[in-house]
Amino acid sequence: MKDKPGALSLFQRLTSVPTAPFREAAVSRKALEWIRANLGARVKVRRARGGLIVSYRGAGKGPALCLAAHLDHPAFELIKVTHTGATARLRGGLPPHLLAGACVEAFPRVPKNNRPLARGVLGPRPKKDGGLWTIAWTEPPKIGTTPDFAVLALPACELKNGWLLSRSVDDLLGCAISLETMRRLSTKRAKVNLTVLLNRAEEVGFIGALDMIRSGVLSARDSYLSIESSRELPGSRPGRGPTIRLGDKATAFDPNLTALLDSAAEALRKRGTAVQRLRLTGGTCEATAYLTFGYESGGVAVPLVNYHNGWGADAVAPEKVRLSDVEGCIKLLVGASRLFGATILRGALRTRLEKRHDIEKSALQRPP
Ligand SMILES: [Zn+2]
Repeated sequence: MKDKPGALSLFQRLTSVPTAPFREAAVSRKALEWIRANLGARVKVRRARGGLIVSYRGAGKGPALCLAAHLDHPAFELIKVTHTGATARLRGGLPPHLLAGACVEAFPRVPKNNRPLARGVLGPRPKKDGGLWTIAWTEPPKIGTTPDFAVLALPACELKNGWLLSRSVDDLLGCAISLETMRRLSTKRAKVNLTVLLNRAEEVGFIGALDMIRSGVLSARDSYLSIESSRELPGSRPGRGPTIRLGDKATAFDPNLTALLDSAAEALRKRGTAVQRLRLTGGTCEATAYLTFGYESGGVAVPLVNYHNGWGADAVAPEKVRLSDVEGCIKLLVGASRLFGATILRGALRTRLEKRHDIEKSALQRPP
């Protein structure tokens, strides 16, 4: 069945199952179903251990712009399960000072939907960071079922007064934005090369992205944009458009790629869509991983309230973003993808220099 086009219906589909670091099988299946129904034969899908690589090549040879998003969200890995409760390891950065007494829902390793196997309440914060949490079941698992991970009991997806609320905006929204960008361009048979990377286990230190990088499946000719929702900051506020990331907490991003985004933003502003730009120092993102290993990379973020379900709030809460910023972000990426091929970035320039080298290199064999 075809969804209504748009990032929102795709986001609803992706959040119809829970996700966690290293437990992305269910959500990645949802993404694949959507890709088959909505992108079909126009794209190639490659499964890598670190996630999915979806590529559309409307411009033939030459570098691609890669949009990288991640399929996981911080959650609890269940270590020992009994009929009264469980011990659990927190994977990723949920706000630990807000978690004691919070309600959780436990799921099998590959959940089919959002119906939990068990419900429970989190015990006090462990004395040591990294220590195990306890869960006391309020609805224990049925005999014969095995809960494997738990997520905070928050809505999967809700719309309210122009806001999109979810237990996992970060980064299933980035996945939805990236794939919707590809749908719009590929439907029009645009002459662009675009790749979407859906990575695993970002929340525990970019493990999926590092796997992509170190296993050699990525090309250094391509350029990499991290597509995220990122904690709001002065200068990156919800409702004022997507934010071009000039850097994160760790690094400044590639100036050529930022210039490409600036050009796309300028064209958008003329048509009334606002775009912000800021170095987002609230955390690090996958762009830093790509940069560290020599890839040209940058990022775009949608300003996020209640980052990781509660940073900046008094209690655990769904993450939320403005719907208008989601649409602005897709427009910015569509524009940047169209400009990418003609812009002299490292990928395109490298191809030209290689050609020149191939023509002239035999002269180096003669003594000077
Ligand atoms: Zn994220």
